[in-house]
Amino acid sequence: MNSSDQSLAAFRDRFYCAPECLYFDGNSLGLLSKDAEASVLRVLEEWKTLAIDGWTAGTPPWFHAAEELARLQAPLVGAQPDEVIVHGSTTVNEHLLLASFYRPEDDERGRRRKLLIDELNFPSDRYAAESFLRLKGADPQDALVVVPSRDGRTIAEEDIIAALSDEIAVVLLPAVLYRSGQLLDIRRITRAAHEAGAYAGFDLSHSAGVVPHRLHDDEVDFAFWCTYKYLNSGPGGVASLFVHRNRQYLAPGLAGWFGSDKERQFDMAPQFTPAAGAGAWQVGTPHLLSMAALEGALRIHREAGIERIRARSLELTAYLIEAVDTRLARYGFAVGTPREPERRGGHVALEHAEAIRINAALKERGVVPDFRYPNVIRLAPVPLYIDFADIDRLIEIIVTVMESGSYRAHSSERGTVA
Ligand SMILES: *Cc1c(COP(=O)(O)O)cnc(C)c1O
Repeated sequence: MNSSDQSLAAFRDRFYCAPECLYFDGNSLGLLSKDAEASVLRVLEEWKTLAIDGWTAGTPPWFHAAEELARLQAPLVGAQPDEVIVHGSTTVNEHLLLASFYRPEDDERGRRRKLLIDELNFPSDRYAAESFLRLKGADPQDALVVVPSRDGRTIAEEDIIAALSDEIAVVLLPAVLYRSGQLLDIRRITRAAHEAGAYAGFDLSHSAGVVPHRLHDDEVDFAFWCTYKYLNSGPGGVASLFVHRNRQYLAPGLAGWFGSDKERQFDMAPQFTPAAGAGAWQVGTPHLLSMAALEGALRIHREAGIERIRARSLELTAYLIEAVDTRLARYGFAVGTPREPERRGGHVALEHAEAIRINAALKERGVVPDFRYPNVIRLAPVPLYIDFADIDRLIEIIVTVMESGSYRAHSSERGTVA
C-alpha cells in the first residue's frame, strides 16, 4: 500500500487482535497487548510472593511506580518528568486540578469567577465543571462561559479567543473533540488565555497516545487524560495529569497522603509536606494492578515513537477520508472531521442519517466501530494495529451493507450502551 513506513505493522502481533477482526474503536478502548498482560501478571506474582514487601521490593517498587510511569509517559505529551503523574481517573483529575486552578477567592479583585468551556466537550467534563462551580458557591448559569459551535461539529478557535475576558479564571477545553475528531491549536489558545490573564487546561483523553503534545513548551498550565483509549491500559485504566513547572507553586486543592514528599510520607506527621512536582496532586494509594497494564502498554508506545505513530495515523485517516469521498458519498455518507491534517486527531467521524442501523450492521459483520448519537460512526484506524488493508476491507463491508440494504433490518432505537 501507499505507506511511507511499514515498520509499525510489526506491532500488530503484540496485540490480542483476531486476524479477521476490524477493530476501529481504539479511541474508546484500546486493545490488550501481550506486553500489558505480562506486566499485570508480573505484579500479580509480586503480590503473591512479596505481599506487603512489594511496596519496597517490587520491580519497580510499588511505592515509586506512579512516578516511574509518569517518567515513561512524559515524552508522549512533551512534559518534563516531574510535570506528570499517573493517578486517579480522568474526571476525578479534572476536579483535582480545578481545585488548584479555579480559586476566585484568591483573586484580589474578585473579578475572575468564570470558567470557559465549549459546547461540544465530553459531557463528563462539563458535569464536573458545573458541579465544581457550585461547590465554590458560583452559579453555573453565570460563571460558566460556553463557546458555541457554528456547525455542530467543530469549535472555531477565533470564537474561543473572542470569548476571553478579564472575568475568565480558567479555560478548559479538549485537545481533540471526542465526536468530530477536531484537534485544537493548544499553543494558540494557551497564549491567548495567558494574554487575557487566565489559566489554560486541556483534556487530552482523545489525543494522548496518538497526537504528540508539547505541553511544557506550549506553557499549558494543566492537563489530564485517560490511558484506556489510545494508550491501551485497559478498561477503567488509571489516568494521568500534568501541572506545568511554572504552576507547581500552587498547592493541591484536595490533598492526600500519597501527594507527600516521599521521604516524609511515612513520618505520618499531622502536617502535609507536598512532593515537589506533579506528584503532589496524588491523593490516595495508587492502583497498582491498573498501573501494571499501563506499564506494559507504554513500552510499545515508546518503541514505536509518538512521532511515527502520528505520521502513520495521519496517513491512515487521510486514506479513510478519501475512501469515504470516492466510494461512500454516493450512499449518503459525509466526513464530519476537519480535513486539514493539523486540525484532526486520530479518528474519523462518518456521518449518515441511518448511522445507528449501519453501525449495528457493521458489528454483525465483524467490524467494531463506535456510534455516537444521533448520526456519527466514529472510526479510529489505530496505527499500532490497523493497516491500509483493514481500511479497504472496512470500505468493502460498508459498500455491501449499503448495496444490500441489510442495515434496514436493524433497530434504530438507542440501547443503553451505544
Ligand atoms: C473518555 C473521556 C473521558 C472519560 O472520563 P472518565 O473519568 O475516564 O470516565 C472524559 N473526557 C473526555 C474528553 C474523554 O474523551
